[in-house]
Amino acid sequence: MRTNLFVVKWEEKELKRISSAEGVSVERLHRLLEAGRVVIPRNAKRAEEAANRDIALTAIGEGMSTKVNVNVGTSKDYSNLAEEVEKAKVALKYGADTIMDLSTGGPLDEIRRTILKEVNVPVGTVPIYQAALEKVGERAVVEMSSDDMFNAVRKHAKDGVDFVTIHAGVNLNSLERLRRSGRILDVVSRGGAFLVAWMMHNGSENPFYAEYEYLLDIAKEYGVTLSLGDGMRPGCIADATDRAKFMEVIILGELVRRARDEGVQALVEGPGHVPLDEIEASVKVIKHMTDFAPLYLLGPLVTDIAPGYDHLVSAIGGAVAGMYGADFLCMVSPSEHLALPSVADIQEGTIVTKIAAHAVDLVKAGQRDKARRLDEEMAHARKHLDWNRQIELALNPEEARRIRESRPSKSDACSICGDLCAIKMVKEFLKK
Ligand code: SF4
Repeated sequence: MRTNLFVVKWEEKELKRISSAEGVSVERLHRLLEAGRVVIPRNAKRAEEAANRDIALTAIGEGMSTKVNVNVGTSKDYSNLAEEVEKAKVALKYGADTIMDLSTGGPLDEIRRTILKEVNVPVGTVPIYQAALEKVGERAVVEMSSDDMFNAVRKHAKDGVDFVTIHAGVNLNSLERLRRSGRILDVVSRGGAFLVAWMMHNGSENPFYAEYEYLLDIAKEYGVTLSLGDGMRPGCIADATDRAKFMEVIILGELVRRARDEGVQALVEGPGHVPLDEIEASVKVIKHMTDFAPLYLLGPLVTDIAPGYDHLVSAIGGAVAGMYGADFLCMVSPSEHLALPSVADIQEGTIVTKIAAHAVDLVKAGQRDKARRLDEEMAHARKHLDWNRQIELALNPEEARRIRESRPSKSDACSICGDLCAIKMVKEFLKK
């Protein structure tokens, strides 16, 4: 057993497994973990369970391969536990590294516990949803007590949740900046909105900020990683990169330090909707101001006008953000902004987000060589018109095969050029 600054301990053999999967030395992994630049979310309860079942460890942060989270979860309008489990399984099939249960409808405890049982990667939640939903009536959100909020965190932690999103950066200070910001969409984070409504109604500081020490105690007790939420994330291009967002980043930077001082792992969530030319600055400033905590992004979405295609909009932003230092991309599905995603939406969103993550790894120090080997293999398979190998190497082999077989070629090339296949022709002449 190794020791480190953090409450969570990992077996030496587990760290060796991660170091070989990530292509970094164990010594470097130790250093990055101790600096808080890499986190390995794992609840103490899941660590115990890992003795009897295979639960993957996921290292997120500097120098690690770019990770992908997939959100599943019911809503008040649609609640079907079996379907949410199916979504999680589809996400895992296509390479999700973590799953978040964002359920807000149906039997929340049963849904979360089932997902924890069915999923063998780190699982995250947003406990304030449950704290609000357990109050009855239209004003449930503002009627939560601070105990309700902390009890929800404790309940999730006790169940084995590996990381929890906590919007502790939504405080009176960032709220004041929000009031002066002149945003079009004010607050689009659900947890952030709950807290803004609660603070304004009760005239009080956000309990997660005011009693952050207590939150850290819970995180320490259960070995839970904090994902410091971006309640002030911009919800449209016009609101991007403003004072409200960066006031929150300043606060999150302070909260990261306090978490590390107490031995609690922390990562930071980031924006939101950001135009392409503001992504580099945004990522670099957030990284610097949060002492290089692992950065987890929803998007960023680089335009507002493509509902139905927001998985692509988000992957474009995620790839650029990853190139400048974002570590962890949250899947956005084609149904973003429109409806609760279906299983097919989750599949599509996961694959597209994995493409973005791989594109990042192709240019990421420490990951570049490993990632490029895959592309090189594909290039050789293309050169040899080896269709089976090309399909095997594809991120979605079923789709690659479906398309190939839907319009076959009379030649051994493909039906785009047939006998006029450029690869074949030039290979013959170059005698390679
Ligand atoms: S037929 Fe055309 S598109 Fe198809 S493999 Fe050959 S060069 Fe590429």
